[in-house]
Amino acid sequence: MKRVIAIANQKGGVGKTTTAVNLAASLAATQRRVLLVDLDPQGNATMGSGIDKAQLTRGACEVLLGESDLASALVQVSEGGFTLLPANQDLTAAEVRLLTLPIGREIRLRQALQPKREAFDVILIDCPPALNMLTVNALVAADSVLIPMQCEYYSLEGLSALLDTVDQIREAANPELSVEGVLRTMFDPRNNLANEVSAQLVTHFGEKVFRTIIPRNIRLAEAPSFGRPALFHDKESRGALAYLALAGEMIRREDEAFAARAHEAVAQDSAFAAAVAGDGSGEGGEGEGEEEEGQGPAGEPRQAHATGEDRSR
Ligand code: ADP
Ligand code: MG
Repeated sequence: MKRVIAIANQKGGVGKTTTAVNLAASLAATQRRVLLVDLDPQGNATMGSGIDKAQLTRGACEVLLGESDLASALVQVSEGGFTLLPANQDLTAAEVRLLTLPIGREIRLRQALQPKREAFDVILIDCPPALNMLTVNALVAADSVLIPMQCEYYSLEGLSALLDTVDQIREAANPELSVEGVLRTMFDPRNNLANEVSAQLVTHFGEKVFRTIIPRNIRLAEAPSFGRPALFHDKESRGALAYLALAGEMIRREDEAFAARAHEAVAQDSAFAAAVAGDGSGEGGEGEGEEEEGQGPAGEPRQAHATGEDRSR
């Protein structure tokens, strides 16, 4: 898994930052090297990782403006196991400055991350609640976008605006940008509307909707006030377990995609070999090398869907 993933939704309060911090900790717990980029001037991911945003001498603002190199702005989050590029309200000024640049303003983050891409297995970018130049920088820098959403009446409406932006970025600057998945957050299965919207999402987006559902959980809400991910606050809590399940699902999907590509390459190779063999020698064990697979990702372990009403943990 070597990927840059933007966590984006222009709606505020849908669980972007909660997902960014807790997914960072969960992927780090699987021994992956994780960088979390705080790209929101509110600096919630920074505070939620236990770093005081008021004390920053350098962060995402300076890096975007080219006033600091990336390496010297990074901080280690010990209670989390990941590395953080922190941010605070200075980032608003950085955005304004970016807008005045005549050229290359959308690619600043991509360029800034370039020297460190190989140093991390996963880079997560926590986006602000707007489709602004900061979010555009995140989408241009990313391989994929992970979209957290609450299953509410207006959620779907915002989603099409975001997907339009993703299409535009693909056309203009980043043809490889894909949708990592849509993540249902703060889910309450007792709410009929939430269940309806959830079903609509699956109808619409199919496999793109993560099977893992993040339940509404008090530990996820209170962990930021302790400056740490839920995994380091109450590792048995349903919130912490749900984000571990999400990390597991992402890793498994990646493995399956890799296996599918490998299978395709082998199939092409054997087709080539068969064509060459059939071309002259008349030898060759036609019918011998029957492939024994073909059942696909059978027996995929059922995701431990972390739904259910919110007990206090
Ligand atoms: P965003 O970054 O999209 O604005 P946040 O992650 O900051 O959203 O979440 C908004 C609020 O909801 C925060 O107070 C957060 O603690 C809370 N919250 C997020 N996810 C959950 C959850 N699964 N259960 C309970 N509270 C949550
Ligand atoms: Mg946020």
